[in-house]
Amino acid sequence: MKDIILTGDRPTGNLHLGHYVGSVLNRVNIQNQGSYDKFYIMIADTQALTDNADRVDKVKNNIIQVAIDYISAGIDPNKVNIFIQSMVSELHEFTTYFLNLVTLSRVQRNPTIKEEIKTRGFEKSLPMGFLAYPISQAADILAFGTTIVPVGDDQLPMIEQAREIVSSFNYTYSPTEEVFQMPKPFLATDKVCRRLPGLDGKLKMSKSYGNAIYLCDSPDVVRQKVMSAYTDPNHIRVSDPGQVEGNIVFTYLDAFCKDEHFARYLPEYENLDSLKSHYKKGGLGDVKIKKFLIEILEELLAPIRARRASCLENIDGIYNMLFENSYKASLQAKERLERMKDAMGINYKKLLK
Ligand code: ATP
Ligand code: MG
Repeated sequence: MKDIILTGDRPTGNLHLGHYVGSVLNRVNIQNQGSYDKFYIMIADTQALTDNADRVDKVKNNIIQVAIDYISAGIDPNKVNIFIQSMVSELHEFTTYFLNLVTLSRVQRNPTIKEEIKTRGFEKSLPMGFLAYPISQAADILAFGTTIVPVGDDQLPMIEQAREIVSSFNYTYSPTEEVFQMPKPFLATDKVCRRLPGLDGKLKMSKSYGNAIYLCDSPDVVRQKVMSAYTDPNHIRVSDPGQVEGNIVFTYLDAFCKDEHFARYLPEYENLDSLKSHYKKGGLGDVKIKKFLIEILEELLAPIRARRASCLENIDGIYNMLFENSYKASLQAKERLERMKDAMGINYKKLLK
């Protein structure tokens, strides 16, 4: 049996480098290999509203932005169903029934939720919808019979939660035929790419933390962000020995640099190891490594920017694609919703003789 792939992003801002290496690149590779049954990418507007209830315009305006980012980064809407979460109302029905299968204490133990509550300042007034989003996310995954979810590692607890809901559903309702598949995460091969840190060098790169380099940033903005990035605070003079661990410029080089970049932009070094050992010994300045990083990022971002420019000419076409795909996704989800209701014994029309 071929895989069913589903993944998504919250329309809370444009996509950033963390999305790119953490998930988008894997999606493009899977898409290009083509060995899947169905492939969905969901723009999670309902989820975005759980911590943006009073910022509807922000969420609404970012739907098209995220869709443009996907296409610019290489997602082909002819091969992948890109849809809008709120336009697939069946998902909310799944969520309602799944809420009964999860305890409050289980959600409160979710490490990603715990961290997000803290960083969003929700300790005192936590929206119920936000606390429950792992369950709504399980609905998004399970509604389509998803087997593979390409994600960054902050999402592992969400997939674990979805798996527990499958077990709990099977235990509670003992379906005679399988209704839900057990989903599996699909992570980036490089550990650094699974949770790319932000420019502050502390939290993960995130739209909500103001620490991101966006795929749509102009060359000037990329340059300025990299130039002001956190490095080693004790590396004051060029001659000082520098630290590579926790130095965000080296972290980004770990994520983005390939040996071939040295031949193009920094031929006096053979590879990243030789650059790192020079930095550790002393005698290598931050500006030189930052300029090298800028060259590498520009090589990645320039074609993405060019594709973005042509998407901007076709906004209505992209909206129509999203609406059509949401309708198709809704038909797919409805099918499994009926199977779920059958298994639960709540398809009341079946009571008619
Ligand atoms: P928000 O701040 O609104 O939560 P975000 O930047 O965390 O936004 P999401 O839309 O929540 O982005 O995440 C979408 C996908 O991108 C998820 O699979 C997530 O794991 C992945 N992702 C997000 N940030 C990173 C990161 N810094 N490194 C690797 N993967 C990431
Ligand atoms: Mg997030």
